[in-house]
Amino acid sequence: VLALQGAFAEHRQKLEQLGVESFEIRQLKDWDQPKDGLIIPGGESTTQAKLLNELGLMQPVKDAIVAGLPVYGTCAGLILLAKNIEGEPSHRIATMDITALRNAYGRQLGSFYIEAPMKGIEGNIPMTFIRAPYIESVKPGVEILAEVDGHIVAVKYQNQIALAFHQELSDDTRIHQMFLDMIK
Ligand code: GLN
Repeated sequence: VLALQGAFAEHRQKLEQLGVESFEIRQLKDWDQPKDGLIIPGGESTTQAKLLNELGLMQPVKDAIVAGLPVYGTCAGLILLAKNIEGEPSHRIATMDITALRNAYGRQLGSFYIEAPMKGIEGNIPMTFIRAPYIESVKPGVEILAEVDGHIVAVKYQNQIALAFHQELSDDTRIHQMFLDMIK
């Protein structure tokens, strides 16, 4: 779990609940540990991107994802994975062929909770949006997993899953399980 900033502890808790070992990536030497997947948490994408660059982690992370390492990003994690962000240059991991809009719900409606369906999972998923992005468009090959109010909020692309909302803040472990199944 990338642990430079943001809600990384909650992701680790979810993995623990599911009986999966995890560790925190805080610096380059942590990255060398063997791993089957990577989670990029929500938080502040600008800060996370800056730290990834400063710590020399940006390129190794990007190379590993391109080489097939399974990755799951939530909120700021989605922003870091997006190839295109409206109105911003690319200093990100940029491995997912989507165009996203940061802070897309504006300040007034910046944070909200909703339950909505998601492809591949039965019943509704609790979704907590906190100054969240949404995905404006996806390139062919990107599978749309969930939409809320006509906006794409969850996608899968090859070895990558990205959500606009925070899944780790609810009791629900089904998306983490989906990610673990993808790794298997
Ligand atoms: N608004 C934040 C950003 O642009 C993302 C918010 C979040 O991760 N909850 O990085």
